[in-house]
Amino acid sequence: MNAVQIKTAGEVELIQEALPVAADNEIRVQPLSAGICGTDVHILQGDFIGSYPVIPGHEFCGRIEATGPSVQNLRPGDMVAIDPNIRCGVCSRCREGRINLCERYEAIGVTRPGAFADRVCVPAAQAHRFHGDPQDGAFAEPLACVLYGLHRLEIQPDTRVAIWGGGSIGLLHLQVCSRLLGCRVTLIESDPVCLVKARKLHPEKAVLNDSHADKTLRELCPQGFEIGIDATGNIAAVKQLFSHLRRGGQALLFGVYPQNKELSISPFQIFLNDWKIVGSVTYRYEFSRAVALLESGSIRGAALVDHRIGLPELPDFLHRLAAGERLGKVQVVCSDFFKKKIK
Ligand SMILES: [Zn+2]
Ligand SMILES: [Zn+2]
Repeated sequence: MNAVQIKTAGEVELIQEALPVAADNEIRVQPLSAGICGTDVHILQGDFIGSYPVIPGHEFCGRIEATGPSVQNLRPGDMVAIDPNIRCGVCSRCREGRINLCERYEAIGVTRPGAFADRVCVPAAQAHRFHGDPQDGAFAEPLACVLYGLHRLEIQPDTRVAIWGGGSIGLLHLQVCSRLLGCRVTLIESDPVCLVKARKLHPEKAVLNDSHADKTLRELCPQGFEIGIDATGNIAAVKQLFSHLRRGGQALLFGVYPQNKELSISPFQIFLNDWKIVGSVTYRYEFSRAVALLESGSIRGAALVDHRIGLPELPDFLHRLAAGERLGKVQVVCSDFFKKKIK
């Protein structure tokens, strides 16, 4: 079979591998849609906790092709969204219920082979049946992350929320905050192309982050926003967020920030403004809810995809993303499946 393997930092190529065989409690899945995420780019850049070589790809939805002898509840042909994060269940963090902080972290596409291949074997317990377009199903993992981050905040309907970043994560936050939670949302984005996409989903308030942005934001919300969400991973955006955060406001730092960068913020301002500052890493029990929201169409996934590519094009796309090119959301799709579906 074909697979895309990151051999070591900076080296990625299309390889031929033997078809994997599902172990006792595993299923073999044909990935139909698999999203590229910042984590995949970090693995290529060498900033990563697993060991090389690795087949990345952790945001995916596919069709079961074979099941191991002990698998009872799933059958070949079933469409499944895969929860890539495998939690041990017995470490002290797992036993506290903080399973996102599991001390024996394993993840499909990070510490074991992922979805950028013709087939991948995963534990059956990680599969959730998905009745819908696999391009939507591939957003279950990032949406679960977004739901967990938002669960950590106190949010009431009509809350004034500002989101920095109109990439796919920012646009998932936008949809959950405006459609599900009834918030009044403003999106701030520096790339005019991303801004156009954001306006399609949410025409009311999407602000271009240019030299006029601070003035525009002050006019929109003179006292500052009750909630600021950073979905950029950019320190300058976080600084701007705090400059528009209302007294008593909450800040969600959702981006993956460069490990060696620091944010300077006055502790006196945190004290005086009664701010709540929240971090967020992966998710706990939000995956099933994410699957349900994407199945029902309450949250749109496929609409966020900018490029649909095949496996042979993936090494080039990963290199371009690692070089800093902004390509929007890229999904590797199984073209045979989508051709059949269109007929
Ligand atoms: Zn991801
Ligand atoms: Zn654990």
